[in-house]
Amino acid sequence: IDSDTSDEAVRATCDDATICKRFASSKSYWKDPYIQYFVRSVGERKAPEINRGYYARVQGVNHLLDAFLRKTQCDCQVINLGAGLDTTFWRLKDENLMPRKFFEVDFPTVVARKIHNIKTKPPLSKPLIETHSTDSLLLDAHSLDSDRYCIIGADLRDISSLDEKLKKFQLNPELPTLLLSECVLVYMTPSQSSNVVHWAAETFPTAMFVNYEQVNMSDRFGQVMIENLQRRQCNLAGVEACQSLDTQRERFLKTGWEQSDALDMMTVYSMLPQDDVARIERLEFLDERELLQQLLQHYSICWATKDKLKLGLSQLAF
Ligand code: SAM
Repeated sequence: IDSDTSDEAVRATCDDATICKRFASSKSYWKDPYIQYFVRSVGERKAPEINRGYYARVQGVNHLLDAFLRKTQCDCQVINLGAGLDTTFWRLKDENLMPRKFFEVDFPTVVARKIHNIKTKPPLSKPLIETHSTDSLLLDAHSLDSDRYCIIGADLRDISSLDEKLKKFQLNPELPTLLLSECVLVYMTPSQSSNVVHWAAETFPTAMFVNYEQVNMSDRFGQVMIENLQRRQCNLAGVEACQSLDTQRERFLKTGWEQSDALDMMTVYSMLPQDDVARIERLEFLDERELLQQLLQHYSICWATKDKLKLGLSQLAF
């Protein structure tokens, strides 16, 4: 596979994620009133275990993100790396949990699409305008910069240009910073993803990194997952770093992070508020609980912290 074809296939993965999130939220697994503006139709039915998997992913990531925002009293910034068409900024605005500034990074073509949607859909653009103080809102095809929300087109494999672009848009390295990557690092080689994680550790003295992706990929079920993605020409260059929860943690511990933890998603699922889990389990009948278990054991959340300001970030957990 040549690299343009595989980069294009990687960019297309953001549609998969959004389509699955759109479907699950339309079935009331969770509320997302904004995702409809990024994918118009609800699309075809997804299997219940897929919906439950997305539920665990969204709730799991939100749990750590919201805990960080509360711990820092929103006096912080968030950087979503490989954000795709993610709607978290709008949720945080509605829940009064907005950081000082919310940054998103993705390939320029993905960013251009997202900006087009924001420009043409008032429910998306209104919150940006409302939280902006001057009339100088920057909006062109490849970047959007307002006081509280900024999207940048960049390739995460080119760290110096990433760093330069973020600084151009008033990134403040001294502010407590949450970095998020959700199903993104697996598309890079282990050395490229280590560079991202290392850059984050070097740049931000007080920070938390939350990474969601595949894990336990060396067993048979994992091999089948890899084959399915490869059939779609996706370059899973980073799968080596997804061998185990330990390899996930080591990526952080080897690059300057003070502490790191990782859980597989079956464990996360069992630690989420169980009244809500009971509610979503009533939404659709699931025949084979074992399939859900196998699927969730092959995804993980890994998080790492550095805490120069001694805010107690290492206490953040499930
Ligand atoms: N994080 C979003 C979510 O969970 O809904 C999107 C996930 S999607 C599976 C992966 C995203 O990472 C895509 O939007 C893709 O364009 C982006 N991505 C992958 N490699 C990248 C790179 N080298 N530079 C910038 N973005 C990248």
